[in-house]
Amino acid sequence: MKPHGPIPPGYAADESGMLLIAGHRADALADTAGDTPLFVYDSAMLAARAGEWRAAMPDAVQLHYAMKANPFAPLLAFMAGVVDGFDVASGGELAAALASGMAAGHISFAGPGKRDRELEAAVSAGATLNLESAGEAERALAIAARLGRTPRLAVRVNPDFDLKGSGMKMGGGAKPFGVDAEAVPALVRRLLDAGADWQGFHIFAGSQALDGAAIAETQTQTVALAARLADEIGATPPLVNLGGGMGVPYFPGDAAVDAKAVGDALAATLEARDAALADSRFAMELGRWLVAEAGVYLTRIVDRKQSHGETFLVTDGGLHHQLAASGNFGTVIRRNYPIALANRFGAEPAETVSVVGCLCTPLDRLGDQVALPRAAVGDLVAIFQAGAYGATASPAAFLGQGPAREMLV
Ligand SMILES: *Cc1c(COP(=O)(O)O)cnc(C)c1O
Repeated sequence: MKPHGPIPPGYAADESGMLLIAGHRADALADTAGDTPLFVYDSAMLAARAGEWRAAMPDAVQLHYAMKANPFAPLLAFMAGVVDGFDVASGGELAAALASGMAAGHISFAGPGKRDRELEAAVSAGATLNLESAGEAERALAIAARLGRTPRLAVRVNPDFDLKGSGMKMGGGAKPFGVDAEAVPALVRRLLDAGADWQGFHIFAGSQALDGAAIAETQTQTVALAARLADEIGATPPLVNLGGGMGVPYFPGDAAVDAKAVGDALAATLEARDAALADSRFAMELGRWLVAEAGVYLTRIVDRKQSHGETFLVTDGGLHHQLAASGNFGTVIRRNYPIALANRFGAEPAETVSVVGCLCTPLDRLGDQVALPRAAVGDLVAIFQAGAYGATASPAAFLGQGPAREMLV
């Protein structure tokens, strides 16, 4: 038997043992959707999560949603009413963000390799471009001049540190992201000279960190870096986007980030900030922390079989919707995501099984030798922490299986 990650708090069963999501039985949700596999997102949990963040953080810090974690249109429209801004990373995401009802002035667009038509769309809409290079800055300025618009431009800084313990390092050393810190003052001066509406800095050091102290330390370094750059430029950045990095517990032994500790430390950091940032606003941009727990992936058992003494539950889902849970999205060692039998939720485990998907590849494993209650064909398996990097971060077209259904309740 191998352990699985912790089931997020807030999930329970009805008296028959059926998992409830947003107060609805998992099997009823699958019926409503018409079929499995199905992602269900709980809007009340999304709102509660944002509320938890606001209660923990200083009032001066705005909450942005990094929509690549989950761009499902109904979820995005819901989030538009819950957070202060969206961070997008492509022209497609920009269009989706605008369609969600989020005001263009609260959308920022980061990401390397922005094409001219994407820069043009952002400038035309009045969204902020987080510039990734001097070359991109020149293209944005030229496009704005051609359109007769004053572009809203921020500079993404490649910091000279990274976020310790983060699953994905996005700063420190040679990176395709952002402008190396020492080159930033000259670039900002160029933007100011060209008459751009300079919006400040975007400094994102890493992702999926669970250690609140490491996040707090990185935020202190980030604020110090922004102050140093502001001093050198001789101008106050209107907004300092501090990045995010708050992760979620996916694996055995993982524990939730202490958001209150991060918020208290950030309050102290901002209190003590350099005068160069006295009039700056601050923001954090979070993806998975806001949406992962609110999502459950439901997949139905199609077959139950034995091979060399191992029991396999073969489902109608798989890595084409849940690449991360299969262990093939940026993890070195495959470990089990939180997993349960939805129709005997909370029951004592009765057997050790491997839950696999329907793709014809050995990579397609959703639960490796996990202890579950006795399962039969037709039962529903639930994978948790499924609200982020599921449906759109998985190869849905692989093997012709097609996308999962999604619903916001
Ligand atoms: C992906 C990304 C995020 C979100 O990361 P999470 O780990 O989901 O919070 C935030 N900011 C930037 C710039 C990103 O690329």
